[in-house]
Amino acid sequence: MKTQPFPIEQIRQDFPILRQSVHGRPLVYLDSAATSQKPRAVIDTLVRYYEEENANIHRGIHTLSELATADYEAARRKIAAFIHAPDPRNVIFVKGTTEAINLVATSYGRAFVGDGDEILISAMEHHSNIVPWQLLCEQVGAKLRVIPITDDGELVIEEYQRLLNPRTKMVALVHVSNVLGTVNPVKQMIEMAHAEGIPVLLDGAQAVPHVRVDVQDLDCDFYAFSGHKLFGPTGTGILFGKEKWLDSMPPYQGGGDMISTVTFEKTTYNALPYKFEAGTPNIAGNIGLGAAIDYVEGVGLEAAGAYEHDLLVCATEALQAIPGLRIIGNAKEKTGVISFVLDGIHAHDVGTILDTHGVAIRAGHHCAMPLMARYGLAATARASFAFYNTRDEIAVLVKAIDEAKEVFS
Ligand code: PLP
Repeated sequence: MKTQPFPIEQIRQDFPILRQSVHGRPLVYLDSAATSQKPRAVIDTLVRYYEEENANIHRGIHTLSELATADYEAARRKIAAFIHAPDPRNVIFVKGTTEAINLVATSYGRAFVGDGDEILISAMEHHSNIVPWQLLCEQVGAKLRVIPITDDGELVIEEYQRLLNPRTKMVALVHVSNVLGTVNPVKQMIEMAHAEGIPVLLDGAQAVPHVRVDVQDLDCDFYAFSGHKLFGPTGTGILFGKEKWLDSMPPYQGGGDMISTVTFEKTTYNALPYKFEAGTPNIAGNIGLGAAIDYVEGVGLEAAGAYEHDLLVCATEALQAIPGLRIIGNAKEKTGVISFVLDGIHAHDVGTILDTHGVAIRAGHHCAMPLMARYGLAATARASFAFYNTRDEIAVLVKAIDEAKEVFS
């Protein structure tokens, strides 16, 4: 059967911001790993919510509140289906990956981690999956252990096996690296941890926009991701957790909605997922995230993934051909993230010059300072792709890099 060509022109029309010019040049947005752009469907959902439905949820008995609550819970069901969670109760709304991981480190940590225990992370983690565990370790006297990586940017699985031990209380692992683009063999690693009775949290911030995530198939204990990298609004995110953990963990924050009854002597907590959702949430944003998921499913995550893979191969070949350019991260399995350094030019200068060409990339340590240290670098430039990018944009990127080199020659 002949496959349909990817409808890139139609998709680009769905993203109003992509029509912009920057410094008089058409915007080439290659910073989707930092945050993705938003389709019209998501923007319209936010506007419609505020124009027609704005009310607080779960508490009101009036019509608007009921409408808002229904849409909010419908979004939760969409998200549960998107990651194949067994039940919407496993899906907790948070403000992003960072908050999701802090929730688990704090709440699971309080219940299950003590003096002399170990938390196992990897050398390619974002600060969001390092610092919350460090805070926990400092508080309870536990130790942070780190799985090393190869020069190509792959985890050393034999070392991982060696590091798993009876003191390990959590494996917290990035699914896809935001710097290297590496897709980690998480299913195998979860099996290995479970064989030792150790739960696993996956940081899926860079995975969900690109690969199909099935939390039941992966059998992960926790899965964290951000809505704003998945074409949804900022300030949205999800923590998936297995019920057996969420039930046995204390609440993360106290306040409205997370309670069942309150007296000055004692509070009892609400059922899942509300036990972990204190206070008025980002109602519009979370409904918008539901719209983003509808949009992504409409495009087709599998078709988008194949299209992005083609962009990655094209960009990798084009960048590798530039003399003096070195790609950091050459794992066999990658998504659309390319970090690179250029001989004699600081990454920030590359970013600034590219901006004058309308090309938006990220430059810096990418919130992964220990990973930068592993490669002996202070910073890299990073181009990251989404399914709204094109091969023509890669050509613009290459031309802009060539000109940056000329400026510094
Ligand atoms: N983890 C990874 C791998 C990321 O790339 C990011 C953001 O770049 C985060 C965590 C933090 O996400 P947020 O800032 O949306 O909480």
